[in-house]
Amino acid sequence: MSNRPLSALPSVDRVLQQDASMVLVAQHGRAAVTTAVRGVLAELRAAKTPELGAADAVLARAAENLARSSRPSLRPVFNLTGTVVHTNFGRAQLAEEAIEAMAAAARDPVNLEYDLETGKRGERDAHVEEILCRLTGAEAATVVNNNAAALLLVLSTLAARREVPVSRGELIEIGGSFRLPELMARSGCRLREVGTTNRTHLSDFADAVGPKTGLLLKVHASNYAIEGFTAAVAEADLARLCRERKLPFVVDLGSGTLIDLRRFGLPHEPTAEESLAQGADIVTFSGDKLLGGPQAGIIVGRADLLARMRRNPLRRALRVDKLTLAALGAVLRLYLDPDRLAERVPVLRMLARPQGEIRAMAERLRPLLEKALGPESTVEVIGCESQIGSGALPTQRIASAGLGIRPGGDRIAAALRRLPVPVIGRIHQGALILDLRCLRDEAGFAAQLSQLTRL
Ligand SMILES: *Cc1c(COP(=O)(O)O)cnc(C)c1O
Repeated sequence: MSNRPLSALPSVDRVLQQDASMVLVAQHGRAAVTTAVRGVLAELRAAKTPELGAADAVLARAAENLARSSRPSLRPVFNLTGTVVHTNFGRAQLAEEAIEAMAAAARDPVNLEYDLETGKRGERDAHVEEILCRLTGAEAATVVNNNAAALLLVLSTLAARREVPVSRGELIEIGGSFRLPELMARSGCRLREVGTTNRTHLSDFADAVGPKTGLLLKVHASNYAIEGFTAAVAEADLARLCRERKLPFVVDLGSGTLIDLRRFGLPHEPTAEESLAQGADIVTFSGDKLLGGPQAGIIVGRADLLARMRRNPLRRALRVDKLTLAALGAVLRLYLDPDRLAERVPVLRMLARPQGEIRAMAERLRPLLEKALGPESTVEVIGCESQIGSGALPTQRIASAGLGIRPGGDRIAAALRRLPVPVIGRIHQGALILDLRCLRDEAGFAAQLSQLTRL
């Protein structure tokens, strides 16, 4: 180590005079490179490590910092956690048709709120309302930012300053600070808890309904299941009670889906159409869960109630942009051809993927990963279980396959996260599990494994 004094650090100009700085300037611009060099010199001064201050070393460090800070924060990853619709990884991946529609809407002006027939102002909902009605049997539909926003709009429009009875078994919290009681309070309505955690009867609702009641709400148990000695009130019974008492009946389906998942060999998940057929006046669900679309909250149901929501000033605050409408419209149009849905909607394709196909991929990738990790690790092909995620069918598991890596699961997980396209698995009993159900780009995954040795 040299004993070079702090004052011997090179000047910014001296660092920038090197030939290598030209490439950096061409890439990032002079101002950014100067700032980066200044930053490195300041770091060396603060750390009292002038011996690291040779001009070429300073420039190399500045180049590293520039590369890091110019990389987008939001990056593609391989979600090999086994949770298909994972909120932390952006939920549904969009169908190519939706991506193209978004790009087109992003690039050019669009008739977002413009009626091409009349040449007058139009409604942004018009782009998806008809198809939503067709797919669900509803009279009317609107789209807002997400399902939490949908509930906020519904409750604040139909039940402000009124009571809303909800079963104690349905007072849910969903990850990321969505708690139904708190959302209800913010909507301006008063939650009236009825029944018990495990059992709620129609009579509990009938007793709770009075002149102050605004509506009845049923919330789909999305991320939990109550088992054992249980009773819940069927939608049809609640709908009948609501009709008798002239109250709107609202169902929050959470994930919801537009199609019976049994056609893909999956367990049944309630559809919006079924809830409406059972007598729901309003149904809300997410666009980016099982539906496989962009983040959105979809509200379908009675036209007179939807008209009231359209007049609520909150709707303006919760509205979606042209990109969301473009993507949602494209995904909804795919639902008109259910036979090809599983090929085209990635969420459904990944959920319907047969275990044998996933296992074959695991067999192909096992030796590549073992070689990349070196002799300390063993990689095995394993059977594992995927889940849908985001609150759909919470207790159902789907047989899957993947790679189990041990020992040193945590250390290897960290190395995989540092790859150019980070790989995210899950740790189970000290082993790192990579569930390959959601691996679509096998070649891309394999190609970057050689970089593991350097991490
Ligand atoms: C996921 C979920 C929500 C929230 O939907 P977001 O689209 O995430 O806002 C609300 N209710 C239920 C039952 C859910 O499962």
